Amino acid sequence: MKRILLPIIILLAMCAGVVMYVLKSNVSTSEECCLVVNTPEEALAALKAGNERYVSGTPIHPRCDMERVQATAPHQAPFAAVVGCSDSRVPVELVFDQGVGDIFVIRTAGNNVNNDVVMGSIDYAVEHLGVKVLLVMGHGSCGGVTSAISNGEEQGAIGNLLEAISNDIPECMHKIEDLDNAIRYHAHVQVERILSSPHIMEKIEKGELLIKRAYYDVHSGRVTIDG
Ligand SMILES: [Zn+2]
Repeated sequence: MKRILLPIIILLAMCAGVVMYVLKSNVSTSEECCLVVNTPEEALAALKAGNERYVSGTPIHPRCDMERVQATAPHQAPFAAVVGCSDSRVPVELVFDQGVGDIFVIRTAGNNVNNDVVMGSIDYAVEHLGVKVLLVMGHGSCGGVTSAISNGEEQGAIGNLLEAISNDIPECMHKIEDLDNAIRYHAHVQVERILSSPHIMEKIEKGELLIKRAYYDVHSGRVTIDG
């Protein structure tokens, strides 16, 4: 009897393995090449889902092959724009597990948007590329914000950069023990600044764009949507 049962059990286990593999392949293939984003809410959901994969250690690195490179060569149509810090620990496409042509990324040290070059880039993403969600993302242990609230003596372009960040954070928050609050408040000010663009407000009022403030935890890899 045992002689008969053992091959049957092995056969059943193999069949189950094949079924699981096929199911898994179908899910990842669909997610990898066919992301459909019709609304701002779906765009935000796609970013959240990608970050969840990243945090849980199961990224699928979608839409990163040469087929995608060639498909996006004629034009881009990203579904999201992210204003983030240049910090090497916050690689936007990896953090959200997205691919080529998915996210229009604007990165500066400290993610401050108080100049026309950055604001022009944001306007371009919204007006001409039609992104559906725009995130302003600060992050823990941000060196730009840390330096800005430490009242250092940097000169030249670095001094100007730190002054721009510092000016957007109230004096009472210029304390290292308050760093996380300062980082979040600074991102909030950038969102308010972006909202001063009439083109962007119009898109939001029409329901064509969501703008959110986010915070990236450099320890866990998790992005929290703050507001
Ligand atoms: Zn930073």
